Amino acid sequence: VSSHQPINTCMLRPLEVPFRYLFGPGPSNVPPRILAAGGRPIIGHMHSEMFGIMNDIKKGIQYAFQTSNNMTLAMSGSGHTAMECAVFNIVEPGESVLVAINGIWGERVAEIAERMGAKVHTLFKTPGGHFTNAEIEQALAKHKPVLFFLTHGESSAGLVHPMDGVGDICHKYNCLLLVDSVASLGAAPLLMDQQNIDILYTGSQKALNAPPGTAPVSFSERACHKMFNRKTKPVSYLLDMTHLSNYWGNDGKPERIYHHTGPVSGFFALRESLAILAEMGLENSWSHHTEIAEYLWKGLEDLGLKLFIKDKDLRLPSVTTIAIPEGYDWKELLAYIMKHHRIEFTGGLGPSVGMVLRIGLMGYNCNKANAAMALAALEDALKQCRKSKA
Ligand code: PMP
Repeated sequence: VSSHQPINTCMLRPLEVPFRYLFGPGPSNVPPRILAAGGRPIIGHMHSEMFGIMNDIKKGIQYAFQTSNNMTLAMSGSGHTAMECAVFNIVEPGESVLVAINGIWGERVAEIAERMGAKVHTLFKTPGGHFTNAEIEQALAKHKPVLFFLTHGESSAGLVHPMDGVGDICHKYNCLLLVDSVASLGAAPLLMDQQNIDILYTGSQKALNAPPGTAPVSFSERACHKMFNRKTKPVSYLLDMTHLSNYWGNDGKPERIYHHTGPVSGFFALRESLAILAEMGLENSWSHHTEIAEYLWKGLEDLGLKLFIKDKDLRLPSVTTIAIPEGYDWKELLAYIMKHHRIEFTGGLGPSVGMVLRIGLMGYNCNKANAAMALAALEDALKQCRKSKA
């Protein structure tokens, strides 16, 4: 027997990975302690020690989310996996869902819900906008959804959404509240239980500083009641919470049965990232992100730039959006900064493309030295890339 497909010579070269300062909206640089955890020799996904590590992860997420929910776990997959898991398990085809769209993440959730056959209603603002509780209440009364989706940290717009009272309003209308905290967890205050959030998810690769590929998620008792008493099975086998709750030891059954092979190395890294957050303390992490963000915002304004979110209280501390300065090509600015400073900033995403530049300083990356480096790189690019006198 001989093989016919020839080896491409690229496969005979060693792996090359350049160094980059990841100062965009994620992933962020991974600190050595987390890299080392992810580099530990793996064990089996069903070994008792692995279940012990998963139990630690659960405790770490409960702290990070500020919840006592038993139904707390990490998805094998990125933030989108948690997003789909929440929608697929909570909503049955034909049920009404309300999605707040003020950037790309609402757009995505609306599409996910539409694909699984939900009746999707939307509340809409252009990027940078946010919703008042009165607007939310009016839409809940009108559409009577089983689920309302809101993004806490809108990374495409750089907006942190006010959360006070939203959970109470949802419950008044017998609706579950689903919140995306992928870009905000650890950077801006969020209290799952106190704020009456029913389903909360985040990602590993932002302020948690783990590699991409795992996504913490938690479900309230109310959410569990709905998802475990449905008439139809969720469309996804992989994301079915009946199986996942058993895999994570959350269903009270004495034995865990094989469902899928979780990302063992990813779980090691996630455990370590949650341990670092616990050691630092949430309040310290929140205030640290705010302090560095304020330093960055002041520096950007001193460079003559305009911040996209005018109201300081609505600015997401982890991802800052800058209005694209007149007289510049935003793609050229980004390319210049990457080439000459090895720094990644990004442009907008979805509806904010062409509106903003984005700088993210999250977790391990969030310090004054990095903020100063980001400002110096931007100052240099503004000098070098000017197209016209604006
Ligand atoms: N929600 C928000 C707010 C995000 O910033 C991101 C990632 N940019 C996601 C969801 C999706 O996460 P992932 O890319 O890990 O699937």
